Amino acid sequence: MIRTAPASQDGLTIVPHATCTFCGCVCDDIELHAQGDRIVRAKSACSLGESWFKYHTAERNYPDALIDGQPATVDAAVERAAEYLHAAHMPLIYGLSNVTCEAQRGAVSLAELIGAVIDSHTSL
Ligand code: SF4
Repeated sequence: MIRTAPASQDGLTIVPHATCTFCGCVCDDIELHAQGDRIVRAKSACSLGESWFKYHTAERNYPDALIDGQPATVDAAVERAAEYLHAAHMPLIYGLSNVTCEAQRGAVSLAELIGAVIDSHTSL
Protein backbone atom coordinates (compact mmCIF):
# COMPACT_ATOMS: atom_id res chain seq x y z
CA MET A 1 0.00 0.00 0.00
CA ILE A 2 1.36 3.42 -0.90
CA ARG A 3 0.77 6.13 1.65
CA THR A 4 1.20 9.63 0.34
CA ALA A 5 1.88 12.49 2.69
CA PRO A 6 0.53 15.95 1.91
CA ALA A 7 2.68 18.11 -0.31
CA SER A 8 5.48 19.81 1.56
CA GLN A 9 6.00 23.56 1.67
CA ASP A 10 8.30 23.41 -1.34
CA GLY A 11 5.57 21.79 -3.44
CA LEU A 12 7.00 18.28 -3.36
CA THR A 13 4.82 15.26 -2.71
CA ILE A 14 6.45 12.88 -0.25
CA VAL A 15 5.80 9.14 -0.50
CA PRO A 16 7.18 7.32 2.57
CA HIS A 17 7.96 3.59 2.73
CA ALA A 18 8.12 3.11 -1.05
CA THR A 19 9.47 -0.22 -2.31
CA CYS A 20 12.20 -0.48 -4.92
CA THR A 21 11.92 -3.51 -7.17
CA PHE A 22 14.94 -2.85 -9.34
CA CYS A 23 17.56 -5.41 -8.29
CA GLY A 24 15.64 -7.96 -6.28
CA CYS A 25 16.65 -6.85 -2.78
CA VAL A 26 13.25 -5.14 -2.59
CA CYS A 27 14.24 -2.33 -0.21
CA ASP A 28 11.04 -1.00 1.31
CA ASP A 29 12.31 2.00 3.22
CA ILE A 30 12.61 4.44 0.33
CA GLU A 31 11.17 7.92 0.67
CA LEU A 32 10.19 9.38 -2.70
CA HIS A 33 9.96 13.09 -3.39
CA ALA A 34 7.90 13.98 -6.46
CA GLN A 35 7.36 17.24 -8.25
CA GLY A 36 4.23 16.82 -10.31
CA ASP A 37 4.51 13.40 -11.95
CA ARG A 38 8.32 13.24 -11.79
CA ILE A 39 10.32 11.69 -8.95
CA VAL A 40 13.12 14.08 -8.07
CA ARG A 41 14.61 12.30 -5.05
CA ALA A 42 14.68 8.73 -3.76
CA LYS A 43 15.93 9.07 -0.18
CA SER A 44 17.62 5.92 1.20
CA ALA A 45 17.85 4.25 -2.22
CA CYS A 46 21.25 3.10 -3.47
CA SER A 47 22.58 4.61 -6.68
CA LEU A 48 20.91 1.91 -8.80
CA GLY A 49 17.57 2.41 -7.11
CA GLU A 50 17.78 6.19 -7.28
CA SER A 51 18.53 6.02 -10.99
CA TRP A 52 15.66 3.59 -11.54
CA PHE A 53 13.16 5.77 -9.70
CA LYS A 54 14.30 9.03 -11.29
CA TYR A 55 14.95 8.08 -14.91
CA HIS A 56 12.79 5.12 -15.92
CA THR A 57 9.60 6.09 -17.69
CA ALA A 58 6.74 4.36 -19.44
CA GLU A 59 7.46 6.27 -22.65
CA ARG A 60 8.54 4.33 -25.72
CA ASN A 61 11.83 6.01 -26.55
CA TYR A 62 13.44 3.20 -28.54
CA PRO A 63 12.53 0.78 -31.32
CA ASP A 64 11.67 -2.82 -30.44
CA ALA A 65 15.17 -3.99 -31.41
CA LEU A 66 18.50 -2.74 -32.75
CA ILE A 67 21.09 -4.50 -34.92
CA ASP A 68 24.42 -2.69 -35.08
CA GLY A 69 22.66 0.40 -33.77
CA GLN A 70 19.99 0.36 -36.46
CA PRO A 71 16.28 -0.30 -35.85
CA ALA A 72 15.32 -3.88 -36.64
CA THR A 73 12.46 -6.29 -36.19
CA VAL A 74 12.49 -8.53 -33.13
CA ASP A 75 12.68 -11.62 -35.37
CA ALA A 76 15.77 -10.27 -37.14
CA ALA A 77 17.38 -9.35 -33.82
CA VAL A 78 16.71 -12.79 -32.35
CA GLU A 79 18.22 -14.39 -35.47
CA ARG A 80 21.36 -12.24 -35.15
CA ALA A 81 21.64 -12.94 -31.41
CA ALA A 82 21.40 -16.68 -32.12
CA GLU A 83 24.24 -16.36 -34.63
CA TYR A 84 26.41 -14.55 -32.07
CA LEU A 85 25.63 -17.07 -29.33
CA HIS A 86 26.29 -20.03 -31.64
CA ALA A 87 29.68 -18.62 -32.59
CA ALA A 88 30.67 -17.64 -29.03
CA HIS A 89 33.33 -19.63 -27.16
CA MET A 90 32.17 -18.43 -23.73
CA PRO A 91 28.69 -16.93 -24.03
CA LEU A 92 27.48 -14.53 -21.37
CA ILE A 93 23.86 -13.73 -20.63
CA TYR A 94 23.89 -10.40 -18.89
CA GLY A 95 21.32 -8.00 -17.52
CA LEU A 96 17.91 -9.38 -16.60
CA SER A 97 16.83 -6.42 -14.50
CA ASN A 98 13.32 -5.16 -15.04
CA VAL A 99 12.30 -8.37 -16.76
CA THR A 100 9.60 -10.83 -15.84
CA CYS A 101 10.15 -14.11 -13.99
CA GLU A 102 9.21 -15.87 -17.24
CA ALA A 103 11.96 -14.01 -19.09
CA GLN A 104 14.50 -14.92 -16.38
CA ARG A 105 13.39 -18.54 -16.58
CA GLY A 106 13.89 -18.44 -20.35
CA ALA A 107 17.34 -16.90 -19.94
CA VAL A 108 18.40 -19.63 -17.50
CA SER A 109 17.12 -22.31 -19.87
CA LEU A 110 19.04 -20.74 -22.74
CA ALA A 111 22.19 -20.52 -20.59
CA GLU A 112 21.92 -24.22 -19.74
CA LEU A 113 21.37 -25.10 -23.40
CA ILE A 114 24.42 -23.25 -24.70
CA GLY A 115 26.73 -23.50 -21.65
CA ALA A 116 26.62 -19.80 -20.91
CA VAL A 117 27.53 -17.80 -17.84
CA ILE A 118 24.80 -15.61 -16.32
CA ASP A 119 25.46 -12.28 -14.66
CA SER A 120 23.18 -9.45 -13.63
CA HIS A 121 23.70 -5.72 -13.70
CA THR A 122 24.20 -5.75 -9.94
CA SER A 123 27.78 -6.97 -10.44
CA LEU A 124 28.57 -3.39 -11.42
S1 SF4 B 1 18.41 -1.20 -6.45
FE1 SF4 B 1 19.21 -0.46 -4.46
S2 SF4 B 1 17.43 0.49 -3.46
FE2 SF4 B 1 16.64 -0.79 -5.15
S3 SF4 B 1 16.14 -2.78 -4.20
FE3 SF4 B 1 18.25 -2.89 -5.00
S4 SF4 B 1 19.59 -2.33 -3.24
FE4 SF4 B 1 17.49 -1.63 -2.78
